[in-house]
Amino acid sequence: MSGVFAAALRAGPLVLDAAIGTRLIAQGLDLRDDDPAFWNLTHPEEVARCHELDRHAGADIVLTNTFGANRVWLGRWNRAAEFAEINRAAVTLARSSGAMVLGSIGPTAWNSSDPSALLAQAEVLLEAGVDGLILETFTGVNAIEAVASLRSITSGPIIASVFDPGDYGAQLADAGADVVGVNCAHPVDAARMLMELDAQLPLLWKPSAALPERYALTPSEFAAPVSDLIRHGVRLLGGCCGATSDHIAAIRRLIPVVEAR
Ligand SMILES: [Zn+2]
Repeated sequence: MSGVFAAALRAGPLVLDAAIGTRLIAQGLDLRDDDPAFWNLTHPEEVARCHELDRHAGADIVLTNTFGANRVWLGRWNRAAEFAEINRAAVTLARSSGAMVLGSIGPTAWNSSDPSALLAQAEVLLEAGVDGLILETFTGVNAIEAVASLRSITSGPIIASVFDPGDYGAQLADAGADVVGVNCAHPVDAARMLMELDAQLPLLWKPSAALPERYALTPSEFAAPVSDLIRHGVRLLGGCCGATSDHIAAIRRLIPVVEAR
């Protein structure tokens, strides 16, 4: 792995951003007739504001607001033809924060009858200049195949973030992942899964700060596992559902800023 992202990762632990989707919902996005990805075109200032708040809170890296921005998922609204424009707009908005940018790819295309839609999205994100790609909220088994597929179109960084890493660490590494992680789980559960993972790769922790009617963690509660995770070798730390820039600031306070060598 080479490039800006790889150099930064070698220099020390990096802070990621918080989830955008749940923050846009808090600002009025209604999932019944809309999707966060459309907001890159319809509400660009709201998306940019999330990136700016995270950057200000200390995020080294932000993810593009493109979790569902593939032609299969957007086709539910008969807007498949806009997928490339939406992904390009998302990269521009993420770049404007000044942080490094990873292109976010959710599992909806891979789990559909047209998995090539995942590669089509990845190609647009790569052409638009992301520093790497991150598969988010995949199952471990699906991520193995998706990573291998992405590896056929890029030599750049690929992060595989799953919610059930199990024993898949070595297979994800063999498939070509540069980083393996856990997202969208309770912070303590995500930490335990990472400790048990034998991936021989840098690890990512991006858990949820809240799950409706189950839990809602304050920033300091959320960040409680961070110091142990750093000692264990976790190198990328951020927030998923329910996390805000306040949760990112709580992570940042526990991680010294290091300059890339
Ligand atoms: Zn989540």
